[in-house]
Amino acid sequence: MNSRKLVVGNWKMNGSRAANAELLAGLMAAGPFGAEVAVCPPFPYLTEVSVALAGSTLAVGAQDCSAHEPGAYTGEVAAVMLREFGCRYVIVGHSERRAFHGESDQLVADKAKIALAHGLTPIVCVGETLAQRESGDTEAVVKRQLSVVVHTLAHCCAEMVVAYEPVWAIGTGRTATPQQAQVVHAVLRTQLAAATPKAAAMRLLYGGSVKADNAAELFSQPDIDGGLIGGASLKAKDFVAIVRAAG
Ligand code: PEP
Repeated sequence: MNSRKLVVGNWKMNGSRAANAELLAGLMAAGPFGAEVAVCPPFPYLTEVSVALAGSTLAVGAQDCSAHEPGAYTGEVAAVMLREFGCRYVIVGHSERRAFHGESDQLVADKAKIALAHGLTPIVCVGETLAQRESGDTEAVVKRQLSVVVHTLAHCCAEMVVAYEPVWAIGTGRTATPQQAQVVHAVLRTQLAAATPKAAAMRLLYGGSVKADNAAELFSQPDIDGGLIGGASLKAKDFVAIVRAAG
C-alpha cells in the first residue's frame, strides 16, 4: 500500500469558466491536504485550470488521450500536448469511454503506454458491469482488462495508477461496500505483484459513487489507496470532505 493516498476528481463533461473558478478557489482555500489531489477537467479548460492551480499542491489531469502521436487524427488530443499544458495524470479506459466509444482493452493499454512515454501517469480504469457481477465474472473481467495493460506496459507497469470502478456504481448512488471493493483490489494487487516487484507501492483507487459519508471506510481498506470521484468532485465542500477522509 502506498502511504500517501491519491484523490482524483473526474469532472466528466461538466463545468464552465465561472463554475470552475469557484470550485478551484474552494479547493485551494481548504488545502493543503494530507492526500495528493488532482482534478481532471474537460480539455478546453485545461490551460485555465493549470494556470489557476500553479504554485498550489493540486495537480491537473485529463480525462482521455489519443493512442497516437500528433498527426491526422481529427478531434483527438495527444499525450504530448497534455504534458505541455501541465497535466500530470490522464484517465484512460473510463467505463463511459469503453461503453460509448467502443474502446477495447488494447486501445486503453496503448493510451496508457503513450501517456507514460510523455511523462504522464495514466489512471487506468477497470470494472465490471452489473450483469458481469451477477454472473460471477467480476474477477475474470477486471483481470482481463488489467492484463492487457500490464502486458503492453511491460517493465513500466508499476508507473500507472489503477482505478477499480464497478460500472454499476458509477453515477448511480450505489457504492460497492468497502468489503466488495477490497476483495477486487486485493485481486488486482496480486495480479500486479506477479508482474512487478513494485506492486505494493502502486496506487489502486476505488471509484463509484464515493461520497463524504462513505469515503473514510472505503479508504481504510488495506488495498484502497484513494479514490476517483465523479459527481461529488464538482462541489468544493463535498470534494474537500472526501479528500480529508483520505488523510
Ligand atoms: C467516475 O466517473 O469516475 C465516477 C466514479 O463517478 P461517480 O463518483 O459520480 O460515481
